[in-house]
Amino acid sequence: MRRFAETCEAVAATTKKNEKVRLVSAYLGSLPLTDAARAAVFFTGGAFPRCEEKVLAVGGSLIWQAVRRLAELDSDTMAEVYRKHGDLGAMAEEVLQNRTAPGGLSLGEVAAAFEELANCRGSAQKLVLVEELLRRTEPVVAKYIIKIATGELRIGLKENLVEEAIAQAFNRPLEQVRRASMLTGDIGTTVRLAAANELAAAPLRLFHPIGFMLASPAETPAEVLENFPAGVLVEDKYDGIRAQAHKSGQKVMLFSRTLDEIVEFPELFAPLAALPGEFILDGEILAWRDGRPLPFTELQKRLGRKQPDLWLSHEIPVSFVVFDLPYQDKEPLLDAPLAERRQRLGLLLDGPRATQLKLAPMGFCASTEELQRAFDAALARGHEGVVAKARESLYTPGRRGRFWFKLKQPLGTLDVVVTAVEYGHGKRRGLLSDYTFAVRDKDGLVTIGKAYSGLTDVEIRQFTDYFLNHTIEDQGFRRRVEPTVVLEVAFNNIQRSSRHESGYALRFPRIVRLRPDKSVEEIDTLERVRELYEKQAPERADGA
Ligand code: AMP
Repeated sequence: MRRFAETCEAVAATTKKNEKVRLVSAYLGSLPLTDAARAAVFFTGGAFPRCEEKVLAVGGSLIWQAVRRLAELDSDTMAEVYRKHGDLGAMAEEVLQNRTAPGGLSLGEVAAAFEELANCRGSAQKLVLVEELLRRTEPVVAKYIIKIATGELRIGLKENLVEEAIAQAFNRPLEQVRRASMLTGDIGTTVRLAAANELAAAPLRLFHPIGFMLASPAETPAEVLENFPAGVLVEDKYDGIRAQAHKSGQKVMLFSRTLDEIVEFPELFAPLAALPGEFILDGEILAWRDGRPLPFTELQKRLGRKQPDLWLSHEIPVSFVVFDLPYQDKEPLLDAPLAERRQRLGLLLDGPRATQLKLAPMGFCASTEELQRAFDAALARGHEGVVAKARESLYTPGRRGRFWFKLKQPLGTLDVVVTAVEYGHGKRRGLLSDYTFAVRDKDGLVTIGKAYSGLTDVEIRQFTDYFLNHTIEDQGFRRRVEPTVVLEVAFNNIQRSSRHESGYALRFPRIVRLRPDKSVEEIDTLERVRELYEKQAPERADGA
């Protein structure tokens, strides 16, 4: 791990892309394969490969506490160092400088510690693990462990440069490396494939799931059409389980978004096996009865059952609504435009087929009015919204690009009050830009989320001054502030969480506007959060 950290230091020290690539490539090339695979993942600034969707859930304040305990420093000194760097990792490196640490932590040990952290619930336990991990290592390594844990290395190394480094280290064509990384959603696996010279052949094999193409969120029809002035293809947005069906001969397998096998819906196998040829289909499994989708809660009852339950499958019948065809009859169609893939898909599903297999209807919208109408019609049919797709979009596995946009009704908004603020990073370093906010409960305020986006730079600057003057407690990295600033936040859904005092967390919260017209007594309550939580489809098992 020390050499990993030193390589990162060298990469950060140069602005030249070629030099960065050379450094990473030389380092990767010098490692045993298992370590090279781990290091490649870490170089992308993550503890785990993209396809795993595992999270460490180690927040800034937890790291702050762990470092503080190790450095045995008071908050003020830590805060001063933090402000100088605007980066927790760099702060840790400086404040831990005088400790004599054993060093010698290997990449494998760090990877194992990340696994353990991801599997462990509860911040007290996580704190102990983080402290132990950092205790075992020298300052520069601690710095990079923290950077990976917080999700960003900030050494000017993006995934595409890591891909270039892999191509260079193993002397393989860059295009092949990029494609493999895209298909597997795992830069570590890509390293292994590159080393074995299997980049070209390996990824698109039937019965080996590929990453799903994802859609970016859009707020309004107008925002969607800005990206597609000439109009856009539109499908319903289905609220089920995204699934990929692989079929050859009589063999059929279904895979989930996390690329795990789905075994709960055996009634889909025969209809898929009856279709001609070999293929990979992409679509959504929905509970479906009498021509309409059933709520996600119904579908959920069938999840996690390894043994078929005849009564349940009769009670909650499912359909597979298909919207894409990334592979057919030995031909990868990833580079074919969507319009062509859809045409082939139409032909494939054209003949007689079981009712459980449905072709997702597709329309075309050229104006915001048309798109709004399509959206309303989708809701009326019992779906979540629409997905707008560029006619020419290629199938890019595992990527959330600007070719597919999802438009769905926000679950709602909440009026909340800011209770703590933190310093931002990069452009926002030195500014109090990250807001922890709370709702009302009978005994006071309980935190429910943290938002970074939605305010203008000018507003953030003004609020920085305001919060500096309305601090209740300066915790260095963070300030508890007087609960006076009321915000309206939107979010995608609500999850149960032990991270916040309310026991809930908002997913993808963003600030919609300031509510200077509201006082803290008028903000939303925990009761309303519970209601919204009950109203939505329960927590998604497929991570969608
Ligand atoms: P969300 O759950 O809001 O993040 O939406 C993303 C999910 O929408 C994807 O992972 C898919 O499972 C799902 N989805 C539903 N309908 C479609 C569609 N027509 N095209 C692509 N993805 C879809």
